[in-house]
Amino acid sequence: MNAPFAELPKALLPWFAANARPLPWRQNRDPYRVWVSEIMLQQTRVEAVLGYYARFLDAFPTIQTLADAPEDLLFKLWEGLGYYSRARNLQKAARVICTYFSGEFPRTWEEIRALPGVGPYTAGAIASICFEQPRAAVDGNVLRVSARYLADETCVDEPAYKTRVTQQLEQVYPAGQCGAFTQSLMELGATVCTPRSPKCAICPLRDSCRGLQEGSAEHLPRKTPKKEKQLMRKSVFLLQHGDQIALCRRRSEGLLAGLWELPNTDEPFSPQQALSWAAAQNLQPSALMRQGHRVHIFTHIRWEMDGFFIRCAAAPDVFVWQTPEQIRHDYALPTAFRKFLEEL
Ligand code: SF4
Repeated sequence: MNAPFAELPKALLPWFAANARPLPWRQNRDPYRVWVSEIMLQQTRVEAVLGYYARFLDAFPTIQTLADAPEDLLFKLWEGLGYYSRARNLQKAARVICTYFSGEFPRTWEEIRALPGVGPYTAGAIASICFEQPRAAVDGNVLRVSARYLADETCVDEPAYKTRVTQQLEQVYPAGQCGAFTQSLMELGATVCTPRSPKCAICPLRDSCRGLQEGSAEHLPRKTPKKEKQLMRKSVFLLQHGDQIALCRRRSEGLLAGLWELPNTDEPFSPQQALSWAAAQNLQPSALMRQGHRVHIFTHIRWEMDGFFIRCAAAPDVFVWQTPEQIRHDYALPTAFRKFLEEL
């Protein structure tokens, strides 16, 4: 069978042994620690994850403690990392493991893949790193390395391409070093074969990389053009009563489900409209100041937000009223809203 990646293990394993960054989730092969790191690292840079990872494991050192965690504490520890469904799914999966696997992390790729929030990439990472199974973990980094290495012009976001690369990599997984091989590919993509300006001169694959030989490495990988993000214009309200600010909860489904937020509308308001809105909420508004214009970008949506600070003479209990210090300390407020609070 054609094995286009046959040369990779012998080039990458010694390089990885000499160059692996000493990251905290590499201290041992505990599947709980590896799993939490892989979920946190989705869409998030290593440097941004390090502090969150340490605090999360301090608070929830075992699968059972994560399963039992109060949701507000879970979200507070995730505050600022974004993609909060990851935290929710971590807890759901922890509960599945406690209920159906007696608290022991499942060992087969199929069982791991079936956990909430776990896709083929994460299942491959855990199965290979923690249980030495020949399962590939193919994410954007690995797709980029493979496309350049083979000078492959296929769009890497086509599912068929990912399936092909996964199968071709799994043909060459080295027995007894599956975990190291998975991590060596990740490490190469993160530190050498980077999205811009790949460091081909120091790359352990430079002698067999077709992208380098053909001069196409910098232009690869190819991707299908992204769809434009949906634009949503919002008005966000910092409602102040005495020394307290109003909060409310988002709906239990959809974007930022169940999280706390500053009161807001899905319409751009003028100051006069903002005052009318506040009056209609029985807030008895007495003064208004513009609080700036902010943009927050999600995967598919772009929020453009106009902020309004409104001093209120009434504090109706449809809102939760807390001091800014209490909010910062006790409430998980998504970054999109926290930016407004920080201006106070
Ligand atoms: S030689 Fe360059 S393009 Fe090829 S894998 Fe290494 S860093 Fe990437």
